[in-house]
Amino acid sequence: MAATKNKAVPEKRPTRQEAEAAVRTMILWAGDDPDREGLLETPSRVVRAYEEFFAGYAQDPREILAKTFSEVEGYDEMIVMNDIRFESHCEHHMVPIIGKVHVGYLPDKRVVGISKLARVVDAFAHRLQIQEKLTAQIANTLNDVLQPRGVAVVIDASHQCMTTRGVHKPGTSMITSRMLGAFRSDASTRREFLAFIGMAHGIIGSNA
Ligand SMILES: [Zn+2]
Repeated sequence: MAATKNKAVPEKRPTRQEAEAAVRTMILWAGDDPDREGLLETPSRVVRAYEEFFAGYAQDPREILAKTFSEVEGYDEMIVMNDIRFESHCEHHMVPIIGKVHVGYLPDKRVVGISKLARVVDAFAHRLQIQEKLTAQIANTLNDVLQPRGVAVVIDASHQCMTTRGVHKPGTSMITSRMLGAFRSDASTRREFLAFIGMAHGIIGSNA
């Protein structure tokens, strides 16, 4: 279904039944009995949950942004959308990455409805991800489609593969950023953006 939208999706998608059988295998492998009452419906629930978690493969972020507004009375100041909460899954462990995205851009004639920014974040977040790639994909897509004078994306997220397994470090978060155009080349533009998102005091250096 999504093959035309995302090259990563193989042509031959397994059936729902095959996906449910795979979950059953994982339950067995974990050491439980998939036939006991509490687990009977679990494979189908997990597959339904996966449909939500990975709905982004069927979405085209460029299409989401396609409708832009050009009559903005010459507005050319920074537009910032703060604290866009997202849920993603790390591609190494398939456990949640939960955090916030801050997006800014300097329009050049074209602006986009703010809900579209959030939908672009979700379209990329609802795939298997690493935070660095998510950050770059959001920034690059906004840059390509809106062709603004600059784009800034900062993501602050906590990774359950860090907090619930492996090194078990709850309370840690990771910050990534990608700055393009004026946000990369002009320190005062970058500072203004970081002030808007409450990060003015510096953790973030001069570029991605
Ligand atoms: Zn991981």
